[in-house]
Amino acid sequence: MVWECVIVGAGPAGLSAAVYMGRFRRKTLVIDSGEGRWSYGQWNENYLGFPEGVGAQELHDLGHRQAERFGVEFQTGSVTRVYREGDEYVLTQNPGELRARSVIWAAGVRDKWPTFVGVRSLVGRQLFWCIVCDGWRTLDKRLLLLGDDDKAASTVLQFLTYSRDLTVLVDPEQDRLSSRVRKRLRDDGVKLVHGKIDHVTLQGETVEGVQLRDGSLLETDLLFSLYGSSPNTEALGDLDLELARNGHIRINAKNQTNLPGFFAAGDVTNRHAHQVISAAHEGAQAAQAANHILYPEVQRLPKLPRDG
Ligand SMILES: Cc1cc2nc3c(=O)[nH]c(=O)nc-3n(C[C@H](O)[C@H](O)[C@H](O)COP(=O)(O)OP(=O)(O)OC[C@H]3O[C@@H](n4cnc5c(N)ncnc54)[C@H](O)[C@@H]3O)c2cc1C
Repeated sequence: MVWECVIVGAGPAGLSAAVYMGRFRRKTLVIDSGEGRWSYGQWNENYLGFPEGVGAQELHDLGHRQAERFGVEFQTGSVTRVYREGDEYVLTQNPGELRARSVIWAAGVRDKWPTFVGVRSLVGRQLFWCIVCDGWRTLDKRLLLLGDDDKAASTVLQFLTYSRDLTVLVDPEQDRLSSRVRKRLRDDGVKLVHGKIDHVTLQGETVEGVQLRDGSLLETDLLFSLYGSSPNTEALGDLDLELARNGHIRINAKNQTNLPGFFAAGDVTNRHAHQVISAAHEGAQAAQAANHILYPEVQRLPKLPRDG
């Protein structure tokens, strides 16, 4: 069997694409490994239509149900390789292979979190990564920002909009802060500490303290990791896919990649801010472009003159 569309990833980008493809009556399968940014415990307060905010997992469950209502099928699994055979794409997963006339790659990114025991359960609750998403919740709080380079430092300065109590924890083995930026941070009242986190102690949902491996204890209310992320594109090495300098997939305004029938959406692309609302927009856009190429000849007229 050949699917009209296989969507890889069931985050906001993939689910938005799925809702559209289902409503276009395209035979569509979503494959998802279940580990994306949507799967942490965060509460999204900037997504339109939820005055009190909405849990990322709840938004995922709603989107999944919405796509199923329009006949989209779902499968749990991880796509490990994609290659082209004639006009079709072959997607390898464990076990077996799938064939598709179009693919929407919505596989997101992998965040680089610090590596201490129990870190995952803190993400989205006490540990965040993005000032656009969660800067607001830091208002007048004590912040511990984890970062090692000047790029991280530029985000640290932006946090001064929200709080004057900022400490940067620099991993001594990774310290790439320039002396100019180090001085700038100190001049702005930002404290710099060297060390690695051993563990974080909580009292209920509140951070009690951050224990460093050298035995010292830091007091803070929230933590932010400024280590960045990398796009999930490893499975695409056999395609001649154009990537941007930062490794994200290059797309045009319709979410088309340089390959016919291969579209990308969400955090894995380099076009828009990495936010739920942009992921949903890109998924919808990719689906419309994919749907367009799937129309058979009998449903097409010769090229019409443009209006205006
Ligand atoms: C802590 C935190 C807080 C955030 N807060 C906000 C916020 O308040 N507001 C906001 O707008 N955004 C927020 N974001 C960002 C938001 O979560 C992302 O922008 C959004 O989830 C991106 O959607 P996506 O569909 O592109 O990717 P994801 O949500 O990451 O989904 C990608 C999916 O693809 C799957 N996948 C990856 N590789 C494969 C493969 N090879 N085969 C099969 N499946 C695969 C993954 O398992 C995952 O399920 C936050 C993110 C984090 C981590």
